[in-house]
Amino acid sequence: MLSTSKSREENRILITGGGPVGLFAAIRLTGFGIPVTLVEKNSTVSQNIRASTIHPPSLEMMAPYGINDEVFNNGLKVSQWQIRNHVTGENVIFDLKHIADETEFPYRVQCEQSKLCEIMNRLLKHQPLADIRYSTELLSAIQDKNGVNIKVVHKKREEELRGRFLIAADGGTSTIRSQLRIPFEGSTYPERTVLVTTPFPFHKYIEGLSSVTYCWQKNGNFSLLQLPNRWRASLYFPEELSPEEALSEDQIEQQLQDICPSTERFKIYDKRVYRVHQRIVDKYNHGRILLAGDAAHLNSPSGGMGMNGGLHDANNLTEKLNKIWNGDDLSLLDLYSRQRKPIAERQIIKQADQNRKRMTEKNPTKRRKTLAEMRAITENPVKCKSFLMKSSMIEGLREANLIN
Ligand SMILES: Cc1cc2nc3c(=O)[nH]c(=O)nc-3n(C[C@H](O)[C@H](O)[C@H](O)COP(=O)(O)OP(=O)(O)OC[C@H]3O[C@@H](n4cnc5c(N)ncnc54)[C@H](O)[C@@H]3O)c2cc1C
Repeated sequence: MLSTSKSREENRILITGGGPVGLFAAIRLTGFGIPVTLVEKNSTVSQNIRASTIHPPSLEMMAPYGINDEVFNNGLKVSQWQIRNHVTGENVIFDLKHIADETEFPYRVQCEQSKLCEIMNRLLKHQPLADIRYSTELLSAIQDKNGVNIKVVHKKREEELRGRFLIAADGGTSTIRSQLRIPFEGSTYPERTVLVTTPFPFHKYIEGLSSVTYCWQKNGNFSLLQLPNRWRASLYFPEELSPEEALSEDQIEQQLQDICPSTERFKIYDKRVYRVHQRIVDKYNHGRILLAGDAAHLNSPSGGMGMNGGLHDANNLTEKLNKIWNGDDLSLLDLYSRQRKPIAERQIIKQADQNRKRMTEKNPTKRRKTLAEMRAITENPVKCKSFLMKSSMIEGLREANLIN
């Protein structure tokens, strides 16, 4: 027989990773009345520039938890996005009004991932069932019939924790995935991308620019995404340069001048260079250890679907865990994997790959053809709605719900 304090310790769900997926899983579980302990190796919410797009279904999922008001305060509602040939100025605009009868939120919100995580972290501080431990790294995990034991280290002190389940939301380099020797099949794209944020008001100088614009440039491509008080530019990475050279002030200045000539030098807030992968695990559930978010799948950021897909994993998984907590069968965890994995493959990875291919095309004739095809879609309300249902990630979720 277990002592009372030990039973209480076990009577929780463990989460590793305090990114958007781990934090949202903690919000959902504690909202159901389930205690959680979340361990995050960083000392605080990561400030790295990463995701900035929140799609309609994610807003629907976050609405009941009071997250959205703060997201709206820290973000920008964007109801139109465009594909643009920056050389000629021709563009095609997609308007989310076409899906207004399908969602309460017919727009994307441009809000930085770090802000979203800070909002969720603040909410969890007021949640007595949430034990959120920063500067705490998961070292290993072992499961048995009834639960999972993890070894963590905090300020050089090792400790063992036990819970009924472990959600591995520990990102693309997941410790848990490596420890369980779960293959992460897929590939790495050859190119690198440079991401910068700047207060420069592109919208005042580039006529007809939408707050989310994917552009072809003469010798590459770039995107411009507006955030409150800043723009974020994803720039192509000239192949002949090293990452250091591509990130140099002069190189960034030159690329931004190519986009929008300015008499003043561009002020840069943040910059980073990154590589993109498309990978996925074979299944998301491994006994009582459940993979979610980037730990389970990676895709090109083109279209802004990675973090959103992870939030949808967390939403689906926590619904199943709540049912199991209240007496349902463990086989629901198979259903989690059956519902989420094909959607990541068919909708998220595939669509992001198509978006990337479309925008990395350099041939002017093919670009013209693509633009004409896109225009034909926007001019047909039925086709436009169907396209936006996919790109806004609504179709994928509905498809997942039909899988049993
Ligand atoms: C440049 C860029 C732009 C992007 N843009 C978008 C976008 O617009 N929209 C979108 O939807 N997605 C976008 N993405 C993808 C998005 O950032 C990721 O999908 C998202 O961060 C995944 O969240 P996560 O919680 O699964 O993982 P992460 O955010 O990586 O969080 C994992 C956490 O686990 C912690 N951790 C790791 N190992 C351990 C351990 N052993 N112990 C304890 N903690 C651990 C890490 O410190 C980290 O905080 C973008 C990505 C990049 C790189």
